[in-house]
Amino acid sequence: AKELGKSRWVEYGPELDAHAVEHAQIAAELSQALDRDELFVLYQPIVGLPDGDVRGVEALIRWRHPTRGLVSPVTFIPVAERTGLIVPIGAWILRQACTQGAQWASSLGDRAPWKISVNASARQLLEPAFVGVVADTLADTGLDPARLTIEITETAVFGGGRALDTVRALHALGVKIALDDFGTGHSSLGLLRTCPVDVLKVDKSFVDGVTGTVEQEAIATSISEIAQALRLEAVAEGVETAEQASRLLELGYRLAQGFYFARPLPAAEIAPLCTPEPSL
Ligand code: C2E
Ligand code: CA
Ligand code: CA
Ligand code: CA
Repeated sequence: AKELGKSRWVEYGPELDAHAVEHAQIAAELSQALDRDELFVLYQPIVGLPDGDVRGVEALIRWRHPTRGLVSPVTFIPVAERTGLIVPIGAWILRQACTQGAQWASSLGDRAPWKISVNASARQLLEPAFVGVVADTLADTGLDPARLTIEITETAVFGGGRALDTVRALHALGVKIALDDFGTGHSSLGLLRTCPVDVLKVDKSFVDGVTGTVEQEAIATSISEIAQALRLEAVAEGVETAEQASRLLELGYRLAQGFYFARPLPAAEIAPLCTPEPSL
């Protein structure tokens, strides 16, 4: 893919050259970001429907750049993937999240967010050492493997091969597997037979349709039915309105994530959300 990228820069000229330079700069700066403590983790609640109770959190990486300000992962994760920096960065975020998860489990007990979701990119799944990294991180932090969910994309495991082997080995550790952005990738329902999957995360683009026409909500409806038939959890992503939340409940969704419930938050702001409402 790198060669393809290069020849494209040549073909399309100066505008994309500027992009290439920008990317090279980001790559150079990103390689120092870990050492300079510029990376940090936010946690977005995954809540139950209709109660809104925090059932889990998804760890989402952030980069506070000294001059560019807050850089979106949409910008720097692809660069990290291409350069391979995602491997150490991914190991770092995994350790942060598992440490935090174990701490919540001990300090909050029953009220702790039960599951900690961490994104893993295709590049990480191709690393032979990744399963060992996850196993060591769980052992070192003391987090119950069943509390950890690794979010992967369909595209990462679509072709089978080493990535699929990795996912099977992770599942054998007792870790849960979620298919992220479900329905948008190299989707094949056959994948649900070959790849161990516990959770389907329904992409925001389908959640946006649930307050529209029957046709617009059809995919969210179908995914809910597939999840129920296969006894998988389904998480509706990117829920922004009360109307969407109530329609998702009608469609059978019991888990949701989105700005309507909570934005990605610093760890310290999660615990108060897990405290039960004071009884009247
Ligand atoms: P994702 O894994 O699909 O994560 C969900 C994204 O949707 C997050 O964006 C989250 O902030 C955003 N989101 C949540 N609720 C809403 C909503 O109601 N409305 C809208 N418009 N957006 C919502 P974020 O944090 O910018 O991350 C973007 C992507 O970057 C992630 O998509 C994921 O693919 C990647 N990413 C983030 N952190 C990591 C990481 O630690 N490792 C890897 N490999 N990728 C990561
Ligand atoms: Ca995700
Ligand atoms: Ca997603
Ligand atoms: Ca996404």
